[in-house]
Amino acid sequence: MSNAAPYDLEYEKIINEIKSRGVRAVLIQAPDGLKPHLKDLWMKLSSAGITVYISADPCYGGCDLADGIGRKLGADMLIHIGHNKFVKTEEEIPTLYIPASYIANLSELVKKSVEFLKGKGIKRVGLVASLQHVHSLRIFVEGLRSNGFEVAVDDATGGAVLGCNVEAAKRIAGSVDAILHVGGGDFHALGVALYVELPVYIVDPYRGEIRDIEKLKRKILARRWWAIQEAKRAQIFGVVVVTKGGQFNRDLALLIKKELEAREKKALMLVADEVNWERLSSLTFVDSFIITGCPRISIDNQEIFGKPVLNVEDFKELLKVIEG
Ligand code: SF4
Repeated sequence: MSNAAPYDLEYEKIINEIKSRGVRAVLIQAPDGLKPHLKDLWMKLSSAGITVYISADPCYGGCDLADGIGRKLGADMLIHIGHNKFVKTEEEIPTLYIPASYIANLSELVKKSVEFLKGKGIKRVGLVASLQHVHSLRIFVEGLRSNGFEVAVDDATGGAVLGCNVEAAKRIAGSVDAILHVGGGDFHALGVALYVELPVYIVDPYRGEIRDIEKLKRKILARRWWAIQEAKRAQIFGVVVVTKGGQFNRDLALLIKKELEAREKKALMLVADEVNWERLSSLTFVDSFIITGCPRISIDNQEIFGKPVLNVEDFKELLKVIEG
């Protein structure tokens, strides 16, 4: 690692790519949490004579690529920091994905994990991580195995989970007693906990602590159930098509509209790039919203939405509830 940031921004790889492609202008895109660490990259590229644009928009995932904006700007390359490739289609301009691995000494946290699991009487443990931490799973595997634990990591993904994809946890769930999620915040671990019927614990390299996600999971499930029950009474639904490249699904939205109309409900097609309550709340005549993009928008924000907001899975549950 050649930068002072606690994240490996892979400067050498970026410079090599820029040279080999003869790039003159780049657009850099990163989640808000990584933007404070972009100064060195900006300065290095600028001093090499490259025109650098940094996207000031929020960026939540690889589903949200600014390749179209890069093309408009005349940038020869998009440097997308913090995520891997998500979209199945080809990007509009050459795109370099930099996962931004978090660099930290984890020996104390490994020791804490050993003590924690012993205290809980857990012997078989599955490991997953958000992308910034997936490289460090190897250290946990070694530390836990050398202390007598059976440890499972999904081979296909290397243990990486996204907010909307927890296959890495689902595939090992049958052979372990609990899942440890290495990463900060609650977002990814909550995704795991919602789809895997096992205790899920967050091993947080930023705070150096281990914590349980169960209480939050119960709160979220209760809110989800409330939203589905409330939506049952709704007459007018707003079906939201999200325009972000990896979230766009107009056909699914049209199918949902059809399903609603078949049940004597009205469905208004809405389109938005950024979905939040500020945007939705002005549609005062809509009783409930169904978001066909990121499934986490409704899960993580139901508390601040003033009306029931469902994702596609919730919508399937709603149909069952309506049919009684
Ligand atoms: S769809 Fe949502 S959870 Fe999935 S990568 Fe995009 S922002 Fe993250």
